[in-house]
Amino acid sequence: MIVAKLEAVKVLVLGGTADARALAAELHQREGCHVVSSLAGRTSRPTPVPGAVRIGGFGGAEGLTRYLREEAIDVLIDATHPFADSISEHACLSAQAAGVRLIALRRPRWQAQPGDRWTHVADVAEAARVAAVTAPEDGCVFVTTGRQGLENYAGDSRHRYLIRTIEPPTGALPPRCTVVLDRGPFTVEAETALLAKHNVSTLVTKNSGGGSVAAKLVAARRRAIPVILVDPPALPAVAETVETVAEAMAAAGAGERTASEP
Ligand code: NAP
Repeated sequence: MIVAKLEAVKVLVLGGTADARALAAELHQREGCHVVSSLAGRTSRPTPVPGAVRIGGFGGAEGLTRYLREEAIDVLIDATHPFADSISEHACLSAQAAGVRLIALRRPRWQAQPGDRWTHVADVAEAARVAAVTAPEDGCVFVTTGRQGLENYAGDSRHRYLIRTIEPPTGALPPRCTVVLDRGPFTVEAETALLAKHNVSTLVTKNSGGGSVAAKLVAARRRAIPVILVDPPALPAVAETVETVAEAMAAAGAGERTASEP
C-alpha cells in the first residue's frame, strides 16, 4: 500500500517562546506542511523563526476565528508562554468556533529540588509584597518576571533592585534600581556570576516550566538564595495536550491528511 499526501497541511503556531521556534523549525522541514508562526509583537527585535511569520494581535477570539477560516488553517498549535493566558483562552474558543484541530503545548511546572528555597506566589503583585517583607534590609532583589508589573516594586526604598528585561521598562521603578537589558538563554555559570556580582539576596521569577529548569534557579540553589516563584495561571483544558516539542510534532504528524492508493 502506498500512502500519498492529498494536499499540504497548514499549521498555525501561536508562539513567542523557544519551544514555538523549535516547533516551527521542525514543521518547516516537514514535507507537505506549511507553517505560519504568530507573534504578539512585544519585542522590537524578535528572534528569527523559520517559515512564514505574522506579527500582532488578531483582535480577540473573534479575530483569531476569522483568521483560521480565511487562511484555511488545518491545525492550530498553542505553543505560547504558560503566563500568556488570554491568547490560550482565545485559541480554545477560536478552534472550537472554526472547527480547527487544536494542540496545546503545556510545559510541566518546575519542581523544587533538595537545596531549593522556594516560596510560591499567585502573581507578580504578591511577589513584590513578599519580597518587600522577606528580603533582608538593604539586600538586593533580582527581578526577572518581565516588564509587566514592575510598578509593584516602586514604593520599596528598603532594598536594592536588579531588574532584567528584554526591552527597557516603561513604568515606575523602585528608587534604588539597576536595569539590565538581556535575553536568554543564560548559562548557570553566567547566572551564578551575576548573583555574586550584585550580591543578590532574593530572586523573583516565574515558574515558566519546561524540560530543564532555568539556569538562574540552579544558580540560586548553588548560592542558597531564596526564590519567590510566581505560579502560572490556570489555562483552559484542551483534549490534545502535549508537554514537549517532540510530542507536539508527533501529534501534528498523526493528523496529517493521507490517502491510500492501490
Ligand atoms: P496574553 O496576555 O495571553 O495576550 C494578550 C494579547 O496579545 C492577546 O489577547 C493577543 O491579542 C496578543 N497575543 C498574545 N500572544 C500572541 C501571539 N502569539 N500571536 C498573536 N497575538 C498574540 O499574552 P502576553 O502574556 O502578553 O504574552 C505575549 C506573547 O509573549 C505571547 O505570545 C507569549 O508566548 C510571549 N511570552 C510571554 C511571556 C509572559 O511571561 N507572559 C514570556 C515569554 C514570552 P488579540 O486579542 O488582539 O489577538
